[in-house]
Amino acid sequence: MSRFLSTVAKRTEPYVPGEQLNQPDIIKLNTNENPYPPSPKVLAAIQKALDDNSLQRYPSPTADPLRHAIADTYGLTKEQVFVGNGSDEVLAFSFMAFFEPGKTIKFPEISYSFYPVYSKIFNIPFEKVPLNEDFTLPMENFFQSDGGVILPNPNAPTSIYADLDVIEGILQQNRDQVVVIDEAYIDFAGPSAIKLIDRYDNLLVIQTTSKSRALAGLRVGFALGQPELIEGLTRIKDSFNSYTVDRLAMAGATAAFQDHAYFSESTKKIIRTRERCVQSLIEMGFDVVPSDANFLFAKPANLDALVLYEQLKERGILVRHFDQEGINNYLRITIGTDEQMEVLVEALKQLIK
Ligand code: PMP
Repeated sequence: MSRFLSTVAKRTEPYVPGEQLNQPDIIKLNTNENPYPPSPKVLAAIQKALDDNSLQRYPSPTADPLRHAIADTYGLTKEQVFVGNGSDEVLAFSFMAFFEPGKTIKFPEISYSFYPVYSKIFNIPFEKVPLNEDFTLPMENFFQSDGGVILPNPNAPTSIYADLDVIEGILQQNRDQVVVIDEAYIDFAGPSAIKLIDRYDNLLVIQTTSKSRALAGLRVGFALGQPELIEGLTRIKDSFNSYTVDRLAMAGATAAFQDHAYFSESTKKIIRTRERCVQSLIEMGFDVVPSDANFLFAKPANLDALVLYEQLKERGILVRHFDQEGINNYLRITIGTDEQMEVLVEALKQLIK
């Protein structure tokens, strides 16, 4: 480790990016991206932003068109919307704006791997709350936190969605702390906690355009909450970046929110593919966690998941292998196109024989 590193940098490890393979026909089911391209209107809007020939100018510091488009989509006002460079950035700002060194926050033991990373960077103590045996959330164990709560809903990598009564219970029992609900996968699941924003000033909902809106490459995430919390986030983000993402991302993401029909159709298609794939995996003897996301969390019966992962990789199919406490021997498989999932299922059938 370099002697030039600050105390903060020493507390963390460099991020290991999702695996890539240098094969053109690789089936990439390892980082929960959308297998379909974004709406053609997104591409047209980015082209138009390029044609405007204004890249030498800073983008609008308040990102008004994008914030309006998001607010209109969810029946909110622009003052209830914050945007950033991917929800990872918005999550990091939330840790800085709402959590404090010296006050312990709670998050589920099995959940998004970045929460402990941000906690360490910002020196925030944390308690990992174990999930129930079936991976559901033990609601009461999130009550009365000292410093706040953050959890993904649906959870990752388990793919399980918690009903809004559970989220509401946690909000009610943490009235003086911020509860961040990370809804990266919510469009593949039940209702969003957005409908609770009016009643809970301690609720911050974070979503992304990387999954259901197929814009992982543009890096646009957003937070929704009462204006007081949104204003808190702008205190952290610096001047010319205040609410903003870059000009091209702003143009593309705004168009994505305006094309509801495309979004709705491709999301439904992914859900239908998911349901078919769950059936096939169950028939092959996998233990599949009921999924409300665009990925499956599954355990092969009497087989080593690591071996399966390696064998799939040899065939040009990339999935994620998990082997950590509580989730030993699991594969996380992103839902691809119907054709990609058929190739996966056929490969698994041969390997399992
Ligand atoms: N939250 C969860 C639970 C995720 O799985 C991810 C992406 N893997 C993110 C946030 C971050 O997504 P992005 O930065 O692309 O918006």
